[in-house]
Amino acid sequence: MKALIFGGTGFIGRNLCNELLSAGYKVSIVSRNPQKAGLSGSGAEAVEWSVSAGALPVELLDGVTVIINLAGESIGNRRWTQPVKEEILNSRVQITQAIVNAIKQQRVIPKVLINASAIGFYGPRGDAEITESTPAGHDFLAKVCQAWEEEAFKAQTSGVRVVVVRIGVVIGDAGALARMKAPFRFYVGGPLGTGAQWMSWIHVKDLTRLIRFAAENENINGPVNATAPEPVRMKDFCNTLGQVMGRPSWLPVPGFLLKVVLGEMSDMLLNSQRVLPDKILKEGFLFRFPVLKNALEDIIQQ
Ligand code: NDP
Repeated sequence: MKALIFGGTGFIGRNLCNELLSAGYKVSIVSRNPQKAGLSGSGAEAVEWSVSAGALPVELLDGVTVIINLAGESIGNRRWTQPVKEEILNSRVQITQAIVNAIKQQRVIPKVLINASAIGFYGPRGDAEITESTPAGHDFLAKVCQAWEEEAFKAQTSGVRVVVVRIGVVIGDAGALARMKAPFRFYVGGPLGTGAQWMSWIHVKDLTRLIRFAAENENINGPVNATAPEPVRMKDFCNTLGQVMGRPSWLPVPGFLLKVVLGEMSDMLLNSQRVLPDKILKEGFLFRFPVLKNALEDIIQQ
């Protein structure tokens, strides 16, 4: 099987690349700057392309069975000014459009397009349980996810199976956990906001296994929630993190302060989303890390 990954140089992409290579896939990674990403020696082939270079060369898809699209401007790196918001939206929509256009021109089409999305699709939902049938929210991230998903689903008209993976907070060797760990290391860790908001997390190893499972399981179609089956409240997440790191969780960061410092981006940390992975569980996927404490121990004690 040959997989073509967009955004394969990022946090999830690097882990996914390892998962697929160890399962015997041939992997090509499309990157704006493969040299900078240091892909040599990873076992994956690197291909240079960016939206500004024009249409995606159709021959890139020759022999490809699985396309995985994770690419997009980071959501958590910079304050959401208007230009940053446009980059967050446009980078995702334009890359997906380019992929769908290249698929349309193939004589032999790939079997499946797995496109990333986020649980941000649902917007803030308080204590309500969220499944794949919950409608979209109305805030900025919800709109980005809707536009991104809409583009991906256009590949269905070419006969490609499309799976949209609505990813929760991914915990692993980088990303959100790497940032959350720092204050705990210095004994000043604690929940963000009231701590009552639900956090729907997933271990990066389970996420990459879930993506492979969706690629290989022809019954899976449409949106799939990629979150562990046991979401937790922010305060419980921080208590467990403190326990696993041998540090107290006692110093809350007030919501108003996050709003002042991060602006609208603070929504990502303060919004409550209690997401359940109904669809993938019904298809028989087994989580290796369904429980937060085990997941954190695996990552932190590595
Ligand atoms: P990263 O930011 O680590 O990687 C994203 C990749 O996209 C980069 O390696 C980069 O590849 C490419 N990219 C970045 N900016 C741009 C841009 N402006 N234009 C085109 N390509 C760009 O993200 P993650 O691996 O953490 O996440 C992958 C996807 O999953 C993202 O789209 C993210 O929104 C989504 N997601 C992630 C979650 C998480 O907790 N990590 C949660 C929910 C959703 P290169 O530089 O090689 O071109």
